[in-house]
Order: sequence, then structure tokens, then C-alpha cells
Amino acid sequence: MTAETHEFKTEMKQLMDIIVHSLYSHKEIFLRELISNAADAIDKVRFESLTNADILEGDAEWKIKLVANEEEKTLTITDNGIGMSRETVAEDLGTIARSGTRAFMDQIQEAKDKELPELIGQFGVGFYSAFMVADRVTVVSRAAGQSGAIKWESDGSGTFTLEEVEKTSRGTDITLHMREEASDYLQQWQLRQLVTKFSDFIEHPVVMDVEKTSGDGEDEEKTTTIEEETLNSQQAIWLRPKDDVDEEQHKEFYHHVSHNYDDPLETVHYTAEGVIEFRALLYLPRQRPFDLFMPDSKTGLHLYVKRVFIMDDCKDLIPEYFRFVKGVVDASDLPLNVSREMLQHNPMLEKIKKNLVAKLIGTLKNMKEKRYDDYVTFYSAFGAVLKEGVHADFENKDKLADLLLFRSTKSDDDDTHVTLQDYVAAMPSDQEEIYYLVGENLDDMRESPYLEVFQARGQEVLLLSDPIDEWVTQSLQEYDGKKLKAADKGDIGGDKSDEKQKKKDEKTFKGLLGHLGEKIGEVKEVRLSSRLTDSAACLVADEHEMSAHMERLMKRMGQDAGVPPSQRILELNASHPVVVALQKRYDDNDSDPAIEGYGRLLYDQAVLAEGSKLSDPSSFATRVNALMLAELDGGAAPNNADEAAKPAGAKKKSTAGPKKKAATTTGSKKKAAKKKAES
Ligand code: ADP
Repeated sequence: MTAETHEFKTEMKQLMDIIVHSLYSHKEIFLRELISNAADAIDKVRFESLTNADILEGDAEWKIKLVANEEEKTLTITDNGIGMSRETVAEDLGTIARSGTRAFMDQIQEAKDKELPELIGQFGVGFYSAFMVADRVTVVSRAAGQSGAIKWESDGSGTFTLEEVEKTSRGTDITLHMREEASDYLQQWQLRQLVTKFSDFIEHPVVMDVEKTSGDGEDEEKTTTIEEETLNSQQAIWLRPKDDVDEEQHKEFYHHVSHNYDDPLETVHYTAEGVIEFRALLYLPRQRPFDLFMPDSKTGLHLYVKRVFIMDDCKDLIPEYFRFVKGVVDASDLPLNVSREMLQHNPMLEKIKKNLVAKLIGTLKNMKEKRYDDYVTFYSAFGAVLKEGVHADFENKDKLADLLLFRSTKSDDDDTHVTLQDYVAAMPSDQEEIYYLVGENLDDMRESPYLEVFQARGQEVLLLSDPIDEWVTQSLQEYDGKKLKAADKGDIGGDKSDEKQKKKDEKTFKGLLGHLGEKIGEVKEVRLSSRLTDSAACLVADEHEMSAHMERLMKRMGQDAGVPPSQRILELNASHPVVVALQKRYDDNDSDPAIEGYGRLLYDQAVLAEGSKLSDPSSFATRVNALMLAELDGGAAPNNADEAAKPAGAKKKSTAGPKKKAATTTGSKKKAAKKKAES
């Protein structure tokens, strides 16, 4: 049978090129990748054989064999695992099936040299690392239970060939035709060293034929025999006593189970006894993997039953919000011949999961209390995922809330965090609620007018800038009996002693508020504010309405279809000179068209202050221009700004504009846009 030639998918060509040319300084990882694949293949056939013993054809002596041929310059890695059918070979070794490929390409091009090995494996490109050391790779494989075998061959440059061949034993032989500069890897000591360094804990024996000489040639005849030597210790690291495993071994095992190449930030190794017995070895990564938020990211733990591998990425063992945790669970109470279907919703797994969650929460709590810097490293990588738990895990909501870190108005420094405990402990005795503001950008939030009154009252406000924070606050609702309250929603209450003044103000400004309420159709009400001390105006949402931030998020996610934008309330600051002057103008002449123009400017600055975009920026510019003109040459009021902004000579002189510059706000540094609007 002649070989058929196939083209690699386009992205494969690119990938191959990148692997060969940019990963050359990490060549040695090829061996661990291939041994790891071989071990996975053996795990798979062993698992299949639990329910179908025939599949083994009597060969259950699991083995991964390395054969180096220095003359031919080839290295062959042989396994008696599950093997690959023609379809699997073409699919698995011709494409990168996972949708992360594009992201991988982008990342690898940006990545620094030392980060590259971390990227391999994360994307399932392990096999292709063979091309770093080989200029041709031949794979001969026979799938368990099938009679024919298939040969795949490629020089990695764009095509591969497929040919039907004979193979007596089950499994896969991968032959690397070594590049000249990689021929060192054919030497026994090199292979031995690489196996002990990277694959020591692999549960199946990694063997190699070695020459053994006996006799000294004098008294005894010198004889040389070839013996198969096992290169790895094969110890199931998770079953060993905790203190017997050193940091180096944990690192290597972590790399193996996680496909990550950073070092674990925390290791959790324990035995659960009692209602359910199992052994767990879990790792918290240091770095956030690229695919943490991708739907097809590999999550879950490896499940073993009494040392026998059952499945990887077992999602039923760990809730989604702990999806960054890597490791192994070995359960002795599960029957060995469990099928994967049976595992789903298995009450035993549910119990293990509960236990793991409690252990992980405890571990994080401990890290937060005892190794705060490490906890902050952890939190910057995975805090956003942990927050999903507050939303998703009702039972553990409060414990998870204790683990959250926030920025707040107490500090200008983005590296300083507070916990909810800290916040509550520092609350003035008359404060009843926990205040927060959600937004996109901490710098903008710190300048927000919504914070003014809290600052004046000496109350702290949590600044939440994670997209998920909006959901967190909605799910949490309260902490330690204190309600969470958005600084930009509803009524935030005022000082009781101000009641009298408030009544008086309401009377004074009644006319203006009603007038603007009629003219500015975008808002449902114009009222006086108890939030503002420095700014003239702000927009607030009703208690149960979506905040501006949430509305923007929904829009960005394309989920705003059919949801009418909620109407906000425009709040004015009764002690701001602009508002006072505007009321005065209204009192002088309640039909002055300039009042609406100024009112709209107040509305526009409030829109900018909440972080939204102006719906009609050109009208805003025209109004501001009119004001500038009025200041510069005593020109027009903002309502007939179109006229005013026309080039000199083309416009009629207006008399309606203000003669004096509007008062500027005092005290706080306000954003440029607002300055523009107010000066
Ligand atoms: P990953 O192992 O991350 O999935 P690889 O590129 O290393 O990515 O391998 C791609 C696929 O090829 C594997 O998932 C597996 O299905 C198949 N494969 C690779 N090596 C072997 C092997 N020795 N035996 C059986 N299947 C293999």
C-alpha cells in the first residue's frame, strides 16, 4: 500500500515553524512530552480493560521503552497503550483541534524566551515538540482491538503521509530521526538523566536496554549482556507520606498534572478519613493560565481509584470556581470498574468535592493570614475566579466572601487591599451599610462625584473594578449583617440634622427642578442630591435598577437587546454656585431658553462623570463653545449656541448669554471634561 500525502492545516504549519525556531533552547522537553503521551495512552487502555479485558490481547505488562540507535541516529519511544486508529492519527497529529490555537499563536509570538515552555502543553502541542530535535518523525500505531496499523510520517514542513502497515503489538512507536545538533540525546546517560529529571514519578516503567558486563576478563570470563533497565522510580507521589516528598518532586509532578510550567504557589497534600476515604494532592498555580476564561479550558482533577488512573480533568471533583486547582485525587471507596458515565453525579464524588472545597477554603484562609504577600499573588491571578464562587456556591458564600480583597477609598495605592472584615471593623459606629462603587477604572472611580459625601462623612467606599463585581455584590447582598449598598444608586440617606435645610432647599429649587425635569427627557426625575459636596450634578439609578456600569457591560457583551436603557435620576447639588445661579436665573425669568441649555450641560457632565459616553457629543461641544464665546466676547447662551458658534460676521449678536464666568468647583481635582463643562 502506498503512502497518501496530506497537508497540515494552515495553523499547524505556522505552529510547527514557531516550535522549531523559537523553542530551540528548550529542546529537552520533547522527551517528557512523548513519555507523558505514552503514559496517558497506557492509562487509557488500562481503564478500557476494566470493562473489556479482551482489548489487552494478553499484554498487560505496561511499559514505555526508549531505543536509541546511534548509527541510524534514531530514537524510538514505544508504548503498549491504547494506540491510534487511522482517523485518530490524522485528526490528532494533523490538526490542533482545540480552539485555543489562535490565542496560542498570538501568545507565543509575544512571549519571552523563558515563558515558552509554559505555553507548550497548555495548548496540547506536546507531540510536535519532537520536531525540535528531529527533522523527520515516524509514528507507527495500532489501536487496541484493531488489526491493521497506520504509519504517519512528516518532516514538519507542511505535509504528512499516511500508510497502512503491519504491526504485531498494540500501541505506538514514535521514531525521531534526530537532527545533527540533537544527536547527544541518543546517549544513554542523557536519556537516563532526562527521565529521572522529568518523568521519575510516571507510574509505568520507562525502560531502556543497557549493556551489562560481568567478569573482569582475568579470573572470570568477561560477558556482556543486554538488560532492560527501568529508569524511573514510578512512585505514585500522592500516596507517599507528606514529608517524604520534596519541593523538587512536587514541582515536576505539578508540571506533569497541570501542563503548566510555573512553580506551584501552594501544595495541599492530605488524606481524608471518616465518612469517605481518599488521598488528595492539590496545587495552586502561581500564574494565571491563558485559557482560564475560555470555555474549552482544561479544568478538573485527575481521578485515580487505588492507584489506577480513571480519568483526567474530572470536573465533578471540584466546583468551577476552583478550576485553577490542579492535582490528583485517589479514592479508595469507589469501585474500580466505574464507568465515566457512572461517575457523573456520583454521591461519593459529591462528598469528596465538599471535602476538597472545605480544605481549599481553609488553605486560602491560612495563606491570607500567614503569608499575605503570597496570598496577594494568588489573588491577582485567581481572585476573579474565586468571586464566581460567591455567586455560585450558596453554602460557602460567606466563607468565600472572607477571602475577597478590595480596593477602597482609604488608600490611593492600587496595591493596598481591604477585606470585608477590615471594612466592617473600621466602620464608624453610626454607619449601617457597606458602601461600594462599581466601575471600570480605579483612577476614574477615585475622582468620582459619587464619593464626595462619603469622604465628607469619613466613610470608606469599596472600589470594585472587576467585571464580575457587579454579580458578586448582587449575590452577596450583605456581610456580617450589614447590607451592601451602591454609592450611585437610590437614596443614601442624609444627616438627620440636615432635614430642616433639606426642606428649605426643596422649596427654593422647586421651580428649577420641575422645569428641568420637563425639558430633559432622558431622565425620569431631577432632584436635589445628598451625595454631592463639590460637584454640581450626578446621575443615579433607582435602588433596583441596573447601574450605568452594568448597562455598559451588558452592551459590550451584546446582551442589551430588548432591554430599554433605564432612566436615571439627575441629582443637583443645592450648594453649588452654578445650581444656585441657575435657580436665580429661573426666578428672574422662568421662560429664559438659556436655562434648558445650562441644565443640559449639567446633565452632560453627570453623564461623563458616571463613565458613560455622551449620546450627542456635538451638541455638547456646541454648548461649551457658546459658553466660551460668552466668556471671551460676551456672546451667546448655550441654547442658541449654533448661532453663537458660527464664524464671526455670520452671526447675530445675542443678548441672552451670561455676562459672568460661571463659578468653578472647589476642593477636588476634577476630570478635564468636567472642567471644560464648568469653566
Ligand atoms: P496532548 O497530549 O496535550 O493532547 P499532543 O500533541 O501531545 O497533545 O498529542 C495529541 C494527541 O495525539 C493526544 O491527545 C493523543 O490522543 C494522541 N497521542 C499522542 N501520542 C500518543 C501515543 N503515544 N499513544 C496514543 N495516542 C497518542
